[in-house]
Amino acid sequence: MRVAIAGAGLAGLACAKYLTDAGHTPIVLESRNVLGGLVAAWKDEDGDWYETGLHAFFGAYPNMLQLLKELGIEDRLQWKQHTLIFNQPEKPGVLSRFDVPDIPAPFNVIASILQNNDMLTWEQKIRFAIGLVPAVVRGQKYVEEMDKYSLLEWLERQGIDERVSSDVFIAASKALTFIEPDKVSATIILTALNRFLQERYGSKIAFLDGSPTERLCQPIVDYITDRGGEVHLNKPLKEILLNAEGTVRGFLIRGLEGTADQVIAADAYVSAMSVDVFKALMPTPWKEMNFFKKLDGLEGVPVINLHLWFDRKLTDIDQLLFSRSPLLSVYADMSVTCREYADPDRSMLELVLAPAKDWIDKSEEDILKATMRELEKLFPAHFGTENPAKLRKYKIVKTPRSVYTATPGRQAYRPDQVTPIKNFFLAGSYTMQRYLGSMEGAVLSGKLTAQAIVSNQQSSDVRKVADYPPPTPVMSGN
Ligand SMILES: Cc1cc2nc3c(=O)[nH]c(=O)nc-3n(C[C@H](O)[C@H](O)[C@H](O)COP(=O)(O)OP(=O)(O)OC[C@H]3O[C@@H](n4cnc5c(N)ncnc54)[C@H](O)[C@@H]3O)c2cc1C
Repeated sequence: MRVAIAGAGLAGLACAKYLTDAGHTPIVLESRNVLGGLVAAWKDEDGDWYETGLHAFFGAYPNMLQLLKELGIEDRLQWKQHTLIFNQPEKPGVLSRFDVPDIPAPFNVIASILQNNDMLTWEQKIRFAIGLVPAVVRGQKYVEEMDKYSLLEWLERQGIDERVSSDVFIAASKALTFIEPDKVSATIILTALNRFLQERYGSKIAFLDGSPTERLCQPIVDYITDRGGEVHLNKPLKEILLNAEGTVRGFLIRGLEGTADQVIAADAYVSAMSVDVFKALMPTPWKEMNFFKKLDGLEGVPVINLHLWFDRKLTDIDQLLFSRSPLLSVYADMSVTCREYADPDRSMLELVLAPAKDWIDKSEEDILKATMRELEKLFPAHFGTENPAKLRKYKIVKTPRSVYTATPGRQAYRPDQVTPIKNFFLAGSYTMQRYLGSMEGAVLSGKLTAQAIVSNQQSSDVRKVADYPPPTPVMSGN
């Protein structure tokens, strides 16, 4: 079976990989000249990499880890010490750690919280622990029900005071969704916490050893093409062409640089594009269908990723850090955390700026100036001093619409991978799967889409076989 897939982000590539495993032929069509979508990366004029986003992998990413294993590249993840590290705004330059001991879950995470006295008082710890009991006991069902509340509302219902919500949870919601606790659905944070509390190494963090495009996406492409599939860059989907009865007849691909448009025909079709692009390309007749109408409730959130190259080493911390500053979310010194970006003498900070809605239209100079001001608090020994660290160069990547905006109530709008159109499917981290808008969610969605296509075909084969034999004459009299 030929399956045309629009989008070579992780969801589209994972879908194609699992289709080839099932003996089918995927044809992946990517609009840009780079693989990876939200994990795409580029080399600058000096050969240094810069990325769409600073990406951390977690132990609680079973589908991603399985995929890396199947590709034979699991050694490309550089696992870090099991700890979560936060800056302390009130003590510039001082870090607070949640060291997770190597004992079974959930005791490891509980022990790490109990041992940290910088960010939570004993009363806050106890209230928070009591608040988490229903999530642990009732599991995912309870977590899903909490989608009606913002994180802040949920915390208030647990009697957890302002300071906790304004401290740890701002950092967590900014890191996971690029929005703030009064805007983010409680389901998001509870889902992450639930995974961390149930899996011994769930909150353990790894970095890829190089750029996601080359070290993660390219091996998936090689796997697909070695098995007869195709992956094409510079092939933007322009229109979804329909048959008279509403099923898909073909993908119309826009011809670039004077070449003609082209129709790709297949047995099944997948949109693995972001929800915003899919909504813009949705055929008019589908817009009236409830399934597709629901997508109006989903929209990508803006985020900005910065890369700052300095003339000296600012830190030797080999881990993701939660900045807890107003503008920035997580950051890492990639010259320490990532083998291919390593530099023994000079730092390259990669930082996520979120929430970015007020910054996405600002100039790079303004964004840089504001970021440098925050670095004075994160690295007081190197900035605002007589001999400050010098910025050698920088790159800023703005993404006006990234993962879906995870405000309360969004779970109800996230679509299944199977659509009412018989030969058309959706993949993407915004589609319904339990890992939210993440790399793990993208891989899982692609896998679920491939499974749905295969089982759809098997049941139509069964239907065809069942239809094929002429009806057996009914014998009477026996
Ligand atoms: C700054 C940042 C930091 C992040 N940090 C983390 C992290 O630490 N951990 C984590 O797990 N996740 C993180 N994420 C989220 C993660 O990157 C995404 O959830 C995931 O990569 C989404 O994959 P996807 O395939 O669903 O969508 P996308 O990556 O958006 O893929 C969609 C693809 O469709 C293509 N496309 C668009 N239009 C067309 C068209 N007309 N025709 C053909 N193709 C088209 C796009 O170019 C793109 O390649 C981060 C994201 C960002 C932006």
